[in-house]
Amino acid sequence: MRLMLLGAPGAGKGTQAKFLIDKYNIPQISTGDILREAVSEGTDMGLKAKIAMDNGQLVSDDIIMGIIKDRLSKDDCKKGFILDGFPRTIVQAEELEILMKELNIKLDYVISLNVADDEIVERITGRRVSKLTGKIYHIKYNPPVDEKEEDLIIRKDDNKDTVLKRLEAYHEQTAPLIGFYKEKGIFKEINGMQKIENIISELENIIEGK
Ligand code: ADP
Ligand code: ADP
Repeated sequence: MRLMLLGAPGAGKGTQAKFLIDKYNIPQISTGDILREAVSEGTDMGLKAKIAMDNGQLVSDDIIMGIIKDRLSKDDCKKGFILDGFPRTIVQAEELEILMKELNIKLDYVISLNVADDEIVERITGRRVSKLTGKIYHIKYNPPVDEKEEDLIIRKDDNKDTVLKRLEAYHEQTAPLIGFYKEKGIFKEINGMQKIENIISELENIIEGK
């Protein structure tokens, strides 16, 4: 199963990907997570990406394609994968096509989680991530049972100013992917403004072809 989760920042892609990893035993490939790791390690790539990330802008297609070429060639991707937050531009989607052709594989579904912009701002500003486990929480919608235990952090780019810029980047540069994948006949969408559990079961229905 090769999936891509599409949606604005904060639409719930990471939250859903975590469930799919366990259920289908395939890895999640989050370019955002890989970039944040590079930033915290202070690598060349991290230093280049950091300015764009802190400003709510997209990182260059070249850097992103380098990451993806590396990642998709790893052994754990042989049984499938979940792309989370990639591709984000038409150029990335086209380059992914070329790469997948070389690897002789295809995307099964591109599934969009649709969430209104005002709800996105609520979700992003309330997002907390566990330093310990990487689990994604929300102070109101999905709080951890034991806050102290989880050692919660707020992502540097999860503030109101930056989220508005990220939303603009989504509408301008990423939303055109909807048309791109509709044309390929693999596009599906889910109302992302439902309970987390309801979205999980809609995803399962799509994946299992019900
Ligand atoms: P979110 O989960 O809020 O959508 P991500 O973790 O996916 O955020 O991405 C964080 C930041 O990393 C983005 O705002 C962008 O700067 C950069 N980024 C992640 N993936 C990509 C990508 N595929 N193309 C360009 N920039 C990316
Ligand atoms: P993305 O990966 O698309 O950026 P996340 O999965 O990190 O999004 O979710 C963003 C925030 O919204 C998190 O705080 C998460 O707990 C919360 N969230 C995710 N799905 C839902 C949902 N269906 N209803 C309410 N809050 C949600």
